[in-house]
Amino acid sequence: MTANNSQNNVCIMWFRQDLRLLDNPAFSFAAEQGNVLPVFIFDNTAPKNAKLGGASQWWLHNSLKSLNKSLDNHLLVLSGDPKKLIPQLCEEYSASSVVWNRCYEEWQRERDASIKSELNKNDIPARSFNGSLLWEPMQVLKKDETPYKVFTPYYRKGCLQKDPPRFPVSKPENLTLCEAKGAGETGIEQLKLTPSIPWYKDMEKMWEPGEEGAASRLSRFIEEAAQSYQNDRNLPAVKGTSLLSPHLHFGEISPNQAWFAILGAFDNAFDHKDLDVYLSELGWREFSYYLLYHFDNINEVNFNAKFNHFPWRSSRKDLEAWQKGQTGIPIVDAGMRELYKTGYMHNRVRMIVGSFLVKNLLIDWREGERWFWDCLLDADMASNSAGWQWVAGSGADASPYFRVFNPLLQGEKFDKEGEYVKTYCPELAKLPSKLIHQPWAAEKNVLKACGIELGKDYPKPIVDLKASRQRALDAFSEMKERN
Ligand code: FAD
Repeated sequence: MTANNSQNNVCIMWFRQDLRLLDNPAFSFAAEQGNVLPVFIFDNTAPKNAKLGGASQWWLHNSLKSLNKSLDNHLLVLSGDPKKLIPQLCEEYSASSVVWNRCYEEWQRERDASIKSELNKNDIPARSFNGSLLWEPMQVLKKDETPYKVFTPYYRKGCLQKDPPRFPVSKPENLTLCEAKGAGETGIEQLKLTPSIPWYKDMEKMWEPGEEGAASRLSRFIEEAAQSYQNDRNLPAVKGTSLLSPHLHFGEISPNQAWFAILGAFDNAFDHKDLDVYLSELGWREFSYYLLYHFDNINEVNFNAKFNHFPWRSSRKDLEAWQKGQTGIPIVDAGMRELYKTGYMHNRVRMIVGSFLVKNLLIDWREGERWFWDCLLDADMASNSAGWQWVAGSGADASPYFRVFNPLLQGEKFDKEGEYVKTYCPELAKLPSKLIHQPWAAEKNVLKACGIELGKDYPKPIVDLKASRQRALDAFSEMKERN
């Protein structure tokens, strides 16, 4: 890597959700053009529902620091409107081209198209690449040219039978970076992405944002967990999944790297159930982006319009109890506290807490989506909206509304010994395993011996599981009648 003061042949590499040097098609292309000016712009024109939540801001701060380090302190970090800043940078550095990897949220697509046409008008070629998906949404359509709405045919027929995904590209060998005024850590600090109250201390212990952290997560997964993924991915107390989601969201690793690492590490991966299931989870990520691209506002609008007539309840008290992990249902509370403490929640538990909010509490899925958006380190408009609509039953290929997860049975099945609950609800730790998912069923003297007074040390359930399940089914029937 060399640095250059001359301003000839400058190619602006606009980093967005691709904060890595390896397998970065736009960056590799930029390196071939001449002097690369690496830029990240914190886009303050993002619409309200796309503005980064608190947890994501913390991640971004650290991810930018890591990228800047890999770029030898040459990353120029700005804040503002890219529609103005990119042309300004072109002028300032006499740039001869601009490149980026594509993003798929509607507002990002509109913004990028407008920047591209503006640059082209000024004879500055702008090129975009696919750096974050295995198959781009516009590539995959049914025979009648309409988009798929069901995952299995989309993935098995639409994707797997298409051309294989792009093989990862290596880091550019000859890289010359521009010396830009103001590049380096100062720009990152000026974004003020970390809060004054350091609530992120537990997150720091668990996560290493950046390309290196992503690579070591992937290696650990391949060595320790991939071959037992099908079963272990359901057990929240076990490290049975890859924990790659925030790294994938910020593009510190591409799905292509994960995909081909699995295919390279094991023979005939598709014939191995655990690996096939893992690859298909990457497929669910693709499907979420596919829905985001082909259908309008899936983060706000019910995919299934019948849900526009659903009789949601409004209860600030219940919503807050859910958010704070104070519902009195241990597996739900453990999940919500895991989210708040670590910025992550296990997928099985996301489904349980989601079902509890939407069905047992009858609260609109959009409330859950917003809370997750603020608290998750992997908050991702595509996967979060698709996940919530799946849970609510309003989404494409969704879990049927009448399937109400029973949190007690889910807890007993997937957290048999209550280890997960004990981690996040330590006040219940002394309860015997058979009672840990239902403290309300324990005799008074057992509770006393365990140092628990329900309603004081741990809440009584805020709803009766059986009655609230019936209420949800009745609401569903009401919705069907209204349609
Ligand atoms: P692994 O099991 O190791 O899977 C590997 C990768 O596949 C993940 O990193 C992720 O990118 C992708 N993936 C796995 N499951 C899914 C899925 N169901 N849908 C889409 N992609 C998937 N995922 C996010 O990345 N961001 C979100 O904001 C998000 N919100 C969700 C909200 C709800 C209500 C639900 C039910 C799921 C949500 N998910 C979201 C999907 C899933 O829970 C996470 O991707 C997963 O838990 C991340 O852990 P992991 O990286 O260890 O996953």
